[in-house]
Amino acid sequence: MKQKKSVVFLVILISTVLIISSSTFAWSTHGKMTYFVASDVAWLEKYNNITITEYHYSDIDTEPYNPDFKILYKEGYIGEQTSALEILSIYADEPDWDMDTNLKLSSFQKIIGGSSGWRHQYYITFFGIIRIGNAPKRSQYFYDLALKAFDKDDYYWGFRFFARALHYAEDVSQPLHAFPLPISIILKNIFSINGLVKIGENHHYTFEDYQGTQIEINREDYIDVLKTTETMDVNSINRLAVLNAFKSKKDCNKIFDIQQKFYGEGINNKEGFSINKDDYKVLKDNEYQEEYDNIIKSHLINFAITVNTALELLHNDLLNMGVFN
Ligand SMILES: [Zn+2]
Repeated sequence: MKQKKSVVFLVILISTVLIISSSTFAWSTHGKMTYFVASDVAWLEKYNNITITEYHYSDIDTEPYNPDFKILYKEGYIGEQTSALEILSIYADEPDWDMDTNLKLSSFQKIIGGSSGWRHQYYITFFGIIRIGNAPKRSQYFYDLALKAFDKDDYYWGFRFFARALHYAEDVSQPLHAFPLPISIILKNIFSINGLVKIGENHHYTFEDYQGTQIEINREDYIDVLKTTETMDVNSINRLAVLNAFKSKKDCNKIFDIQQKFYGEGINNKEGFSINKDDYKVLKDNEYQEEYDNIIKSHLINFAITVNTALELLHNDLLNMGVFN
């Protein structure tokens, strides 16, 4: 009985704590990283003359959007030309443009950062028994819409829906989107939920800011790992995202550990932690630099594997549908 009680307590506690890292973003710069991976994919090269078409899918695109969400055409005007690679490198970021905020999707969304957190994350705990969030399903949703658009010979929306599908599968390859805080930190700060929230946020934002900066400045070793051609053996993008989350969650502890060493104990400040963004651009003389970079790069490899695998799934489906050869 005592044991049962403590399990219940732990579930409540973890649920409370999961509220914490309610960041709705994951990797910074989805589009730019997707570009680096997809630019070497040969079959995409044939699709460099795609006409930009207007969105006309409201009859089949039935999952709700933030009522304030507007469809933007960032590469040009309707009727102009674009390429598959350009569409992917712009719209892999689109789900982060407030597409999923201000919605009531689930009574559990409170514990994962609202409707956007619900759609962009997938928390796994208790050996996979408890899973909160919808990122893998959301990825599949847009993948299926992509196939429907291709079926109508609308390559523009085919690739654009696919770019959105990629976003959600990529999100869960970021470890803190699959598990936000190490159990040891939770237990240590058990009586300070607000403090825990802050610690979770400190680590989450710092991790993403550092990674995003390395991509923004085109750091060679970071770009290099995105060039992997590896793929995973899966039969759906939903499965790909679920496996990503299981793989990435294992490194939650490692990230907290290395960030404490790299940035110092200040990152566990319950009042918050911030660092001048320009400081991320300068490689510091820090004995943990290499270890920190290697952990991040190992997850960027998973990011690249996600893009490669999803593109392979799409290519095979399109071939089977006879959409192109
Ligand atoms: Zn996201």
